[in-house]
Amino acid sequence: MVVKKPKIVIIGAGMAGLTAANKLYTSTASKDLFELIVVEGGTRIGGRINTSEFGGDKIEMGATWIHGIGNSPIHKIAQQTNSLQSSQPWECMDGNNNDESIITIAEGGFHLQSSIVDPISKLFKYLMDYSQGKLTKESAKGEILKYYNMASKASSSSNFGSKKQNLSIGSFLRQGLDAYFESMKEQEEVKGCEDWNNWNKKLLQEAVFAMYENTERTYTSAGDLESLDYEAESEYRMFPGEEITIAKGYLSIIEHIASVLPNGLVQLDHVIVTVSLGVLKASISHDDDDGDDGHGHGHGDDDDEKEALELESLNDEEIMNGVSATVSNFLPHSSSISKVLKSKWGKDPLFLGSYSYVAVGSSGEDLDTMAEPLPLMKDSSNGNSFSYPLQILFAGEATHRTHYSTTHGAYFSGLREANRLLQHYHCVGIFNN
Ligand SMILES: Cc1cc2nc3c(=O)[nH]c(=O)nc-3n(C[C@H](O)[C@H](O)[C@H](O)COP(=O)(O)OP(=O)(O)OC[C@H]3O[C@@H](n4cnc5c(N)ncnc54)[C@H](O)[C@@H]3O)c2cc1C
Repeated sequence: MVVKKPKIVIIGAGMAGLTAANKLYTSTASKDLFELIVVEGGTRIGGRINTSEFGGDKIEMGATWIHGIGNSPIHKIAQQTNSLQSSQPWECMDGNNNDESIITIAEGGFHLQSSIVDPISKLFKYLMDYSQGKLTKESAKGEILKYYNMASKASSSSNFGSKKQNLSIGSFLRQGLDAYFESMKEQEEVKGCEDWNNWNKKLLQEAVFAMYENTERTYTSAGDLESLDYEAESEYRMFPGEEITIAKGYLSIIEHIASVLPNGLVQLDHVIVTVSLGVLKASISHDDDDGDDGHGHGHGDDDDEKEALELESLNDEEIMNGVSATVSNFLPHSSSISKVLKSKWGKDPLFLGSYSYVAVGSSGEDLDTMAEPLPLMKDSSNGNSFSYPLQILFAGEATHRTHYSTTHGAYFSGLREANRLLQHYHCVGIFNN
């Protein structure tokens, strides 16, 4: 008797796609159960993980950090594969920004005193902790209580009120800065900068705050923090512990996950789609002339990311001139830049953006909806089962409600969809991840 094996196609050989393939292929109970094929549109595996080389050093063009080593599946693989040590130079950026030797410089090389920078650094940290639910009334003691009160005032200020839906991190942060300035009795001029014309303490502190806002824009990929949803911020989960880079390169993790798969693995029963949200949105807007995808879920291809797209369109010389001019404003004796290595995540049709965030007006529920397979197991209108359920499944970082935007979010989403199929085929005892 010939038994027909279900055929599964996974679209995309990034972290989510390869993790789903690895799980389906290595689960002992399922090994001989499926025919599996991974389809990749590009000429390499890894997707938004792409370790390159520049000036003899390993350089990450995409994912760079393991965001918190505690409980991270990526860290576990990096340890197992001995990827955290290398005799070759790599782009090591471990550690945190609490290093006291870090100095802050304004235009013209003016060193900002810690009395200007420190209160703003703390303000920004505690405002973000508050928005993420990490700073509560109970945990706020001593000096921290002062910042808790500013955050609390910001969140309950007139623009917010009791309904925090549709409110942005950007406006919350600015309310927090206003609360800080209100709490200052008087704005004293900064000693030693009389020749700075209009510079005063308030202006300098506003500039330091704006610097942290720009860093937050980079972390979240939200071009404008006014488009980053406030409510969703408290759902986002970080792993505890250090944030570290991978000495042998992030691609070593991908190569390990892909290593168990045969080279060419092929009427279709299931497709797991793992393409980026930017690619999905582009395909929807092609089919829908008004361009409204209805997801309301932000991504690096939004109008807000014009800056990144503009940078991608500059040639090397324009970039070198621009960076040199900016740096020399702050460090007059800096050396010039002679070589550029540039990624193009925004314009590359296989990605159309860097990574997702929850935009104002959308919520974590939208991410759950994006993770729903089609057609659903049951028709909700009449409760009937479909003859062929789970035809199209979705994985990828943008489908994980609490770990979107990361490699481990992509990893978990791949496992989730592999496990969904394993469960469908009654492969038991393998749902331990
Ligand atoms: C610059 C940058 C820095 C980052 N830094 C970090 C970091 O430090 N730490 C961290 O955890 N995360 C970071 N990330 C995010 C992380 O890289 C992603 O969340 C993760 O790699 C996404 O994996 P994925 O499988 O969901 O999607 P992808 O990696 O995008 O995989 C999807 C795959 O589908 C392919 N594809 C697209 N269209 C088609 C098609 N039509 N047919 C077939 N194949 C197709 C693509 O080529 C790609 O290989 C960063 C991302 C970027 C861009």
